[in-house]
Amino acid sequence: MDKPIYKRVLLKLSGEALAGEKGFGIDNEIVNEIAFSIKELHKMGVEIAIVVGGGNFWRGRSSEGMDRTTADHIGMLATVMNSLAMQDALENIGVLTRVQTAIEMRQIAEPYIRRKAMRHLEKNRVVIFAAGTGNPYFSTDTAAALRAAEIEAEVILLAKKVDGVYDSDPMINPRAKKFDSVSYIEVLKRGLKVMDSTATSLCMDNKIPIRVFGLNNSKNIIDVVLGKNIGTIVKE
Ligand code: UDP
Repeated sequence: MDKPIYKRVLLKLSGEALAGEKGFGIDNEIVNEIAFSIKELHKMGVEIAIVVGGGNFWRGRSSEGMDRTTADHIGMLATVMNSLAMQDALENIGVLTRVQTAIEMRQIAEPYIRRKAMRHLEKNRVVIFAAGTGNPYFSTDTAAALRAAEIEAEVILLAKKVDGVYDSDPMINPRAKKFDSVSYIEVLKRGLKVMDSTATSLCMDNKIPIRVFGLNNSKNIIDVVLGKNIGTIVKE
C-alpha cells in the first residue's frame, strides 16, 4: 500500500467546495464524500486539521453598503455553520472531531486554544478551526496559513474548484497554462489566484508549502497525501 508523505496536514476547504453545483449553501452529498476521503486519510494515521471557508453563504468583501467589520463578522459566522456541517458528517462515519472557534461561542464549540488543538491531533481527533482568524479584514486562507504555522503542519492542502494554479483564469482563457510548481514570490508578483496576498506572504515567511488541487474528485485529498503529483505545489 502507498504510504502518506505527511504526518500532519492542514486541509483548507473553501465554502464554494461544500456548495457543489448549487453554488450556495451546503450540498450534503458533497460534504459526505469529502468526509469519506478524510476518514481514509485518518485511517492511515495522518493528523488532520481543517479550516473551512464561508463563501457559500457570505463574503464580507462582497457585501456592498454594509459596514465591513459587521459584514466580516457575518462571514466568520458562516464558517461556523460549515464547520458544524463538516463535523456532523465526519462523526456520522465514526471520525472523532473537535470544532474550535476563533470567536468564543462555548455552547456550540470549544474556543481556539493551540495547546488543546495539538493535544486533539495527537489523540487522533480531527480538529476543525472555525470563525477564521477571529478578525475582520482577513480571509479563511489566512486563517489556514496561521493555523498551519501554529500547529506545525507540514503542508496546506488547498482544495479548490479549479484544479491547480494557472497563469491566467482557465474559466476565461482556454489556453491558460497550469503550473506543476510555482514559487510564493511568483504568485505574489504575478497576482496568481491561489490565496490572497496576506495568506501567501504568511506561508512564504514560514516556509509552508501549499498543494493546490481540485475537489472535482474528493479522492484527490487522499492522492495528494500519498504523494501523487496532482494540481500545483507552491513553495520557495
Ligand atoms: N472572514 C473574516 N476573517 C477571517 C476569515 C474570514 O472576516 O479571518 C470573513 C470574511 O468576510 C470572508 C468570510 O468570512 O469573506 C468567508 O471566508 P472566505 O471568504 O475566506 O471563505 P471561502 O472563500 O474560503 O469560502
